[in-house]
Amino acid sequence: MSCSWNEECGVFGVYGHPEAANLTYLGLYALQHRGQESAGIVSSNGRGIYTHKEMGLVSEIFDQDVLKKLPGRNAIGHVRYSTAGGSYLKNAQPFVFDYSKGGIAISHNGNLTNAQALRDQLEREGAVFQSTMDTEVIIHLFAHATNGSIVERVITALKEVKGAYSLLFLNEKELIAARDPHGFRPLVLGRVKEGYVVGSETCAFDLIGAEFIREIEPGEVLMINEAGIQSFRPFPTKKHRFCIFEFIYFARPDSYIFGHNVYQVRRELGVQLAKEHPVEADVVIPTPDSGMPAAIGFAHQSGIPLELGIIRNHYVGRTFIEPRESIRHFGVKIKLNAVKEAMKDKRVVVLDDSIVRGTTARKNMRMIKNSGATEVHVRISCPPISASCFYGIDTPTSEELIASSHSVEEIRRFIRVNSLGYLSLEGLKRCVAPRADEFCYACFTGEYPIDPPHDNAQLDFFIKEV
Ligand code: AMP
Repeated sequence: MSCSWNEECGVFGVYGHPEAANLTYLGLYALQHRGQESAGIVSSNGRGIYTHKEMGLVSEIFDQDVLKKLPGRNAIGHVRYSTAGGSYLKNAQPFVFDYSKGGIAISHNGNLTNAQALRDQLEREGAVFQSTMDTEVIIHLFAHATNGSIVERVITALKEVKGAYSLLFLNEKELIAARDPHGFRPLVLGRVKEGYVVGSETCAFDLIGAEFIREIEPGEVLMINEAGIQSFRPFPTKKHRFCIFEFIYFARPDSYIFGHNVYQVRRELGVQLAKEHPVEADVVIPTPDSGMPAAIGFAHQSGIPLELGIIRNHYVGRTFIEPRESIRHFGVKIKLNAVKEAMKDKRVVVLDDSIVRGTTARKNMRMIKNSGATEVHVRISCPPISASCFYGIDTPTSEELIASSHSVEEIRRFIRVNSLGYLSLEGLKRCVAPRADEFCYACFTGEYPIDPPHDNAQLDFFIKEV
């Protein structure tokens, strides 16, 4: 059975707080945008570890009765993204397993690039896998490590794996947080009263009144126990490769990650875009919600007024998340609706964060034209996405990425608009200066900092004009 490689997720953990499970529940609530397929919490009270996980949203899974069954001062949680082929409860995290010294739980955000090779090897040695997740490889490596403290075992396991990971481990007495040496995915550390919190994004800290201390560094392993916090740097130093797509689309605008506030970066993308692709238009229309900050920046820079021309139904999950093609297309229709009065007889410039397959943009533009817009100009706040991500962002295979086989002009014709402008790579880098060299841009350049797990061959992709 092959592993499901595509994972976008959120992790959250609390150490040393009497309401650890409740705070973790709230933390996961704030991180729900990072995954809506399943969620879980594991707590520990020094005597044992307690688990609850289910398919669905955090609000659907947990209530007072469930949280009461998660006692103790320590907890970790996870929200998981849905991708094709892997949508089962057995893949829901945190994973809990027993090893020679007791129970341990693990939550993972990221993708391992050598998981299949490690899994094949472990299976040859007799290991039996319960899930189709790459994270389980770490568990087997951990269990295989013959001796040492929990943190030594974690380090031994992580020395074997390649790829992207922001990880939390919890046993009866300790919480361990680890971030891969490139630092692909974010991981932050905070304080709440006498306890500590760790999580994917700072927006989770704000919700529970925790104080942000710092980002967990790439290649850092943090152990939190009764003695306090201990930091380890067990891996050879690598060039930082923070995921630029966290800023473009994935992270919440109110979070602070990779040394920046996400909203400010996103707004700046819009400012930069207006400089690179100016247009004569009457209104700037954001594609909600992720296109909003860039639209604000674009409107500010261009002087063109911002109008809410598209309204999003907030009770529909992110369309991309639905695992089946048929549902994704349906989702686009139920998710967004036009405010005709804001666009009728106007030249509109529509801001969106990205074009992936191109199907969403095509449908949105049709809707905008049907509202009576006289001209439609599209501005995208990132460069063309032409290569799949192997480090934790769910992108389709490269043959499904419209920009992998089509020029900007061809894409413009496909989405049927008057003009289309993408932010340049240089412009994007300017928005994350002075640390631009520390980011991964592989989805735009195809230059992978770690070799992808398999041949990313490009297939022909023909667009039919209908
Ligand atoms: P499409 O071009 O039809 O595949 O959809 C592009 C839309 O999906 C954009 O408006 C983005 O807001 C959104 N999007 C981009 N990347 C992702 C992703 N990794 N997961 C979910 N949605 C995404």
